[in-house]
Formats: sequence, C-alpha cells, structure tokens
Amino acid sequence: MLPEAVMQQASEEMLDWRGTGMSVMEMSHRGPEYTEIATQAEADLRDLLGISDDYAVLFLQGGASSQFSMIPLNFLQEKTAADYVNTGAWSSKAIKEAQRFCQVNVVADAKASKFTCIPPLHEWQVNQDAAYLHYTPNETIHGVEFHDIPQVSSATLVADMSSTLLSRPIDVNRFGLIYAGAQKNIGPAGLCIVIVRRDLIGKTLPGTPTMFDYQIHDKNDSMYNTPATYSWYLAGLVFQWLKQQGGLQAMAEINSRKAAKLYAAIDGSDFYANPVEKSSRSWMNIPFTLVNSELDKTFLQMSAAAGLLTLKGHRDLGGMRASIYNAMPEAGVDRLIDFMMEFERRFG
Ligand SMILES: *Cc1c(COP(=O)(O)O)cnc(C)c1O
Repeated sequence: MLPEAVMQQASEEMLDWRGTGMSVMEMSHRGPEYTEIATQAEADLRDLLGISDDYAVLFLQGGASSQFSMIPLNFLQEKTAADYVNTGAWSSKAIKEAQRFCQVNVVADAKASKFTCIPPLHEWQVNQDAAYLHYTPNETIHGVEFHDIPQVSSATLVADMSSTLLSRPIDVNRFGLIYAGAQKNIGPAGLCIVIVRRDLIGKTLPGTPTMFDYQIHDKNDSMYNTPATYSWYLAGLVFQWLKQQGGLQAMAEINSRKAAKLYAAIDGSDFYANPVEKSSRSWMNIPFTLVNSELDKTFLQMSAAAGLLTLKGHRDLGGMRASIYNAMPEAGVDRLIDFMMEFERRFG
C-alpha cells in the first residue's frame, strides 16, 4: 500500500506540477523543477533517519537484487571473504550472488528451523578477516525480524532493509551500508535506496561496471544516468507524509501495535497459526496458516470479496501473509482481524 494522502496529492499534481505545465514524468531530470524535487526528497530522508554527511544517500535502480552484487564489488577491496547470516529467502539470494565474487562464510544458518528464528548470536561463527557482515533485518517472505542490531564482530555491517526501512528509528551510524528496494515500505517499484558511509567507497574490484560503483553515483548526485524520476518523486511525497505522521518514532508505535494485535489474534485461536519464534516475529510481514489448508482458497476468495487484498502467502510458503507496512492503517488490521474471527466462527 501507499498512503492514500500521497496518492491523492500525486493525482492532483499528475498533469501539471505546481503550475509548471509539466507532469513530473515529463521533466528533465537536470532541470530546476526536478532538481528541487530530488533534493527535497533526500533532505527529508536524511531528516527522518538522522543521516549525517558522512553518509551518501543514493537513489538507484536495479532493485535490491543489484545490491547483492554491488556490495561485494565495492566492499571486498583487499579482502577475499565476507560474512553472511542466512535467515530466509532473501539472505539466501544475497549469499548466492556474493559467492560469485568471494568466499562466503555463513556465520549462522536458520535453514534447519525452516527459517522460523534468528540463530542465537553467541553461536555465530564469525570470520575475523571478513570484509563485511551482511544480514537481512526483516525477511519479507518468512516474517522473521531482528529487533536489535547484531554486533558480533568488528566487520562493517551491511543490511538489506528492503521491507523494514522507515518502519521505526534506526541508528544509521552503526552501519557501513543500508539498502532497500522502495516497493515494500517506501514508494513504488523502480527505485532502490542506498545509504553508505563515504569513507568506504571508491575502492571497487577491477572490472567493476561504472554503474556498479557507489562513488560514481555519489559524485553525480544519483544522476550519472537518468534516475527513476517518478518513483523518486513519489518516495519524496511518502517522506513528507511520514514527517506529518510524527516521524519514525510515531510510526514505530503504530507498527508495533498493529503487529501485536494481529499476532494476538493468531495466537489466541486454534484455527490460525504463525510458526515464527515470538522474539523474532516481523512487524511488517505476518505469515499465517489455517489449520485446515483446504480452506485456504475459500479464505482468500472471501477476504478479497470483503476488500482485504493480496493476502495470499508467498509461493514458497503457501498459506497467507499480511504485509502491514507503514501505509496500512491500524483500522485495516482491525478489519482483517474481524474477518478472520468471523471466518473461524463459520468454518472452525
Ligand atoms: C523484495 C526484496 C528484495 C528484492 O527486491 P528487488 O527490488 O525486487 O530486487 C530483496 N530483499 C528483500 C528483503 C526484499 O523484501
């Protein structure tokens, strides 16, 4: 979901942005109008997350998936190994890509538990010579989330925050790099946000394509090539909306309350189940199953008819998944819970 107020504003500005006679889609990315939009979006994001000038904020393309290769290309530098934590489908993909460039040391692997927990930090087998440690703070498919930053070694921390960035405050200074595909919790698809410490960039592996060099993008204000202008603009409107909601502390309170309600409904029923260990449950993506999976289809048909959309679980897991990102209002979660209880009364 995107916030309704943002969609409303975008629709009002669609044909003519503030009397310029142009849609944002029609502007030159180097013109004064678009420069203003882009600069304001970056300033608002810096403000929301408290990002200092020691960090570059980049608005890139190629999705979070391109970061899986950009990170080793930029961060290996003189080293030949990197640490990765495997907590679900997205960490597994990041690991697979990094293996093309270096020796990947999987410091902890939750695969044996079917990705329903975060392996205890004291069991992590870190490599003291790793160039960096990569982890996925929120596993979008498995619904597993770190609620604290894991500090297990002195290696630079790199985090795939695609489905959690902006859901709560974070201390950016603890990270060497944070990245997030925009389409989960930020804006429409087509944009990937990268926050990277400037002293770590500019030392790419030989043969690195120009477009895969963070420093090129930093030096060119993310306009080495034509950026995803409309997605960037919409993300900027979302940043302003977040500030109006009271910023990330306010979002954290709402998001934790939304998740707690839904988990309480699932745990309080013998009809629904969520397999994730309680301390590692995601605020953003809540997978759940019906005890009788033969009812899945009926559940999805009836929920869609009630206006509760895209509840089908990921194809790897089956069942259901409620993604309750920032833009999902608390009333939306209440409606889902009411529907679930009514469905249980009828079919349970
Ligand atoms: C969706 C997602 C990705 C992949 O994003 P793309 O933009 O499709 O490349 C990577 N990591 C996580 C955690 C995701 O949720």
